Amino acid sequence: MEEKLLSLIIPVYFEQEVLEESFLRMDEAMKKTGHPYEIIYVNDGSRDDTMKILRKIAKEHKQVRVRSFSRNFGHQLAVTCGMDAARGDALIIIDVDLQDPPELIPKMVEQWKNGADIVYGKRVKREGETLFKKFTAACYYRLLSSMSAYPIPLDTGDFRLLDRKVADCFLKMREHARFLRGMSAWMGFEAEPIEYVRHERAAGKTKYTLKKMLKLAMDGITGFSSKPLTLSGKLGIGLCLLSGLGLVALIVLACTCGVAPWLWAVDGLVLLQGLTLCFMGIQGMYLGRIYDEVKGRPLYIVAEEINME
Ligand code: UDP
Ligand code: MG
Repeated sequence: MEEKLLSLIIPVYFEQEVLEESFLRMDEAMKKTGHPYEIIYVNDGSRDDTMKILRKIAKEHKQVRVRSFSRNFGHQLAVTCGMDAARGDALIIIDVDLQDPPELIPKMVEQWKNGADIVYGKRVKREGETLFKKFTAACYYRLLSSMSAYPIPLDTGDFRLLDRKVADCFLKMREHARFLRGMSAWMGFEAEPIEYVRHERAAGKTKYTLKKMLKLAMDGITGFSSKPLTLSGKLGIGLCLLSGLGLVALIVLACTCGVAPWLWAVDGLVLLQGLTLCFMGIQGMYLGRIYDEVKGRPLYIVAEEINME
């Protein structure tokens, strides 16, 4: 048996219906990898029987480790907390509800052993989700990748395997508003997809309320693009050009058939509004830079070094 340790990280929030079945399938999948492993559950402030069940599972299985939050901090922080605790050479992140099939884990591990630093699950089909969720998700991923300065793969969630060196880089980023799939894309490295059909939840309902989904969506956009901040500048340039064209048209008209005096005022107002928006865009550029500095991400990430010791 190989000695490389695997860590499976599972965030849980009010999941008493699915936990036991989920553990059996996850444990089975981890055994199939042939590696020693640990399963880390992070209870994100559930107030149902989740902790009772986790205590029982952890008592019977020494490979299971549990961390429990004092309140609900959100899925992304629960995953980060699990990653902080992980000791493995590869970290695998998966939802507890069996929507992402644990049976794919051995294949992901194979891809990792063949040299991939990140193996991310790519959803080719989503079962059991409302049309609204499928539609908004499809639009959102496309909007995000068109705005982001780094390519964020389409239709991927947080179901992924990260090599230890990738996880260590990831954990150096301590920003509060976290968007894991974006941060993973930002880091670069050799990332390989693994395609799968996203199933219906095994039990229980989604814990991602519309409000939580919107927050995550905004964290994704604001964390990975400063385009919204400079959008007003572009609009301002457009308005200034428009007022310039208007001025030319007014001069031509004034020299030929004459113009109503209020049209000059309208053109002046368009120019003023354009200038205001331009300066807002410039402020946005500075704000974007301050935001980048405050995030304190590493300046660069070295993936490999030769003769550098
Ligand atoms: N989750 C969490 N904290 C939350 C919301 C969700 O830890 O505030 C967990 C949840 O238990 C599950 C995963 O995050 O393991 C994904 O949540 P869910 O399946 O409800 O989201 P969906 O798949 O519907 O987007
Ligand atoms: Mg789910």
